[in-house]
Amino acid sequence: MRIVLLGAPGSGKGTQSQRLMQQEHIPQISTGDLLRAAVAHGTELGRKAKEAMDGGRLVADELVLGLIRERLAEPDARRGFILDGFPRNLAQAQALDRLLATLRQPLDAVVQLEVDYAELVRRISGRRTCADCGRVFNLFTAPGQLSKNEPCPSSDAPHRLMQRPDDNEATVSERLRVYDEQTRPLIEFYRARGLLRTINAEGEVDEVTRRLEQALHAVARPKAAKTARGATRKPRSPKRAQTRRGAPRRAAKSASGMRRKPATDTSAASKRAPARRAPSGARTGGRRSARRARRQTRNLRGPE
Ligand code: AMP
Repeated sequence: MRIVLLGAPGSGKGTQSQRLMQQEHIPQISTGDLLRAAVAHGTELGRKAKEAMDGGRLVADELVLGLIRERLAEPDARRGFILDGFPRNLAQAQALDRLLATLRQPLDAVVQLEVDYAELVRRISGRRTCADCGRVFNLFTAPGQLSKNEPCPSSDAPHRLMQRPDDNEATVSERLRVYDEQTRPLIEFYRARGLLRTINAEGEVDEVTRRLEQALHAVARPKAAKTARGATRKPRSPKRAQTRRGAPRRAAKSASGMRRKPATDTSAASKRAPARRAPSGARTGGRRSARRARRQTRNLRGPE
C-alpha cells in the first residue's frame, strides 16, 4: 500500500504512521525526521535546511525532493510506504506524481487527518519526544503513557523527553499559517484525482487509528475484489480447462480454440484453418495424446 498522510502539524500524522508501519510492515517516510537527522549529523543538507526549519517555514523543494527520491529508491519502499509530511505544496505533489509514475508505483490513497486549530496548538505544545528511541509522548493529551514509567527500549533507562525546537509558540503559529497557505490546497489536488479520504483525527489515539484503518480498508477492498474476480476467470491454459471437471462451457470452448475463430470470417482460409490446426489434445503434452493428435490431424486433413 502506498499512501500519503496529509494534515497540519500536530494532527497525529507521525503517531498514526508509526502504528500503520507496524501493522502493514511498510516504512514510514517522514521528511521532517529525515531533515532533523540531517541537521543532527551536521550534513550540508542539514545546514541548508536548519534555518527554514527553525523559522517554521518550508525547506527548499529541491532539497526535500532529493531526500524523497533517495529514500523511495531503497529496497524496503518497494512493498509500499507511508509518506508523512510530504508532499507539502503543489510543486512537491506534482514532482511526486512524476516520480511515482516513473517507478510505476502510483499512490493508493491520501488520508487527510482533520483536527481543530485549538486542539492542534494544545497537542503541539504538549508534545515531547524521547531523545533515545524517538517515541512521541504528549503531556496534555496522553499523560497516562508517561505515568506507566516504561523504560526506553533503546537505553533501558527512563525515556529522555525533549521538546522539539520548532514546537515553541511563535514557530507553531507560523507552521500552521504555512500549512493553510501551501499544504491545504493539496486536499483539492488529491480529491480531484479520486485519492482523498478524510477522517476526524480528534479523540483517543486508538479511535483515530480505527478510523484510519477503516478508511484504508475501503481502499484495499476494491483492489482485493478485482483480484478475486481475476482469479475466477476462465483458465488460460487448455490443459487446466480439460482437467477441471465441469469447467464452464466458455472455458472449455476457449480451450479447444473454438472461440478464437472470428464469427464473421467466412473466407476460404478461415474455413480451412480448423482442419490444419492440431486438436487441442496435442498441446496438452504426453505421448499418447500426441499420437492421438497426429491420427486426428491425418483424418481431418483429407486427401492432399
Ligand atoms: P514535521 O516534522 O513534518 O512537522 O517537519 C518539521 C519541519 O521540517 C517543517 O516545519 C519544515 O521546516 C521541514 N519540512 C518537513 N517536511 C517538509 C517538506 N515536505 N517540505 C519542506 N519542508 C519540510
